[in-house]
Amino acid sequence: MTTGFFWDERCFWHGGGNYAFTLPLGGLVQPLAAGGLPESPETKRRLKNLMDVTGLTRELSVHSAPQATREDLLRVHPESYLDAFKRMSDTGGGELGLRTPFAQGGYEHAALSAGLAKAAVQQVWTGALTNAYALSRPPGHHCLPDFPNGFCLMANIAIAIEAAKADHGLGRVAVLDWDVHHGNGTEAIYYARDDVLTISIHQDGNYPIDTGAVTDRGTGPGTGYNMNIPLPAGAGDATYADVMEQIVRPALERFRPDMIIVACGFDASAVDPLARMSLTANGFAMLTRQIKETADALCDGKLVLVHEGGYSEVYVPFCGHATIATLAGSTITAPDPLEKNLTARQPNGRFAEFLKREVADLARALE
Ligand code: ZN
Repeated sequence: MTTGFFWDERCFWHGGGNYAFTLPLGGLVQPLAAGGLPESPETKRRLKNLMDVTGLTRELSVHSAPQATREDLLRVHPESYLDAFKRMSDTGGGELGLRTPFAQGGYEHAALSAGLAKAAVQQVWTGALTNAYALSRPPGHHCLPDFPNGFCLMANIAIAIEAAKADHGLGRVAVLDWDVHHGNGTEAIYYARDDVLTISIHQDGNYPIDTGAVTDRGTGPGTGYNMNIPLPAGAGDATYADVMEQIVRPALERFRPDMIIVACGFDASAVDPLARMSLTANGFAMLTRQIKETADALCDGKLVLVHEGGYSEVYVPFCGHATIATLAGSTITAPDPLEKNLTARQPNGRFAEFLKREVADLARALE
């Protein structure tokens, strides 16, 4: 079995500023590590660094990939958006939506991020790899066809799915989004389609504040093929395990996908600055084990994880390492320095009982 790992240093160079010191950005000028939006390169770079230090990287099949082509992008995004994005990206950068600034060359960074997801999906679908992780940046799951938002500039996963469908006859796909925020972009793109099942597990009412309701099930032929699982703030490892067991796995068994793609954010971790959930690194390993077992049972193990959010620069690397090691079936571990602390703070007593009832209610609503 071979697990692919797709990354590119240039994805870490995406940023909202226009200069590195006095040098205009673009080409070979790497931006400085100045602060700004919480969507920073450091969360991802430190994950890759940790994997290098433990030796996990050496157990993986490591690749970069070409940028997604204009044709790939046009299957999901209108020409008007791509033209406006490219023009602004070529002339110093700017902002076309909500909280999605980009610098000179941002268009190319986003197309490369989508290209990593595209290559991961194609290589797993065609059997060159067993499964894969794409360390895409900028993220994609909030991006609507013509409106970038929530740090997302192109819909990486949808671009990857549509490319594999067009080029390699990919069939039914299930997208499981465990980023703590609602996968509103993926939902919108597939809302009226029955060949792509979209499932989002998120903190209720976080971002976007007005989407992600359990009653939003799709429309027309897509009715029933969109599932939202909004969880109360504070939910931790046990609740997520219950959700996977009681809601996600049965839904995937009903749908019978040819491939499963995970929108893999690490912002449901207990220390994330942009959410209020309680997952631990072990919790992410457990989620990965559960979805891997389901993929083994349903679709020959065809599983791709695409990086989304996660904003704790110190903890995302440990959550990501646990996830990728589990995906690869590796025995290499990066012991979680917060394990004792966070395990002691998992929901218990009446709150744990309340969460169990919530999951049972959601399972009934989504049957
Ligand atoms: Zn997120």
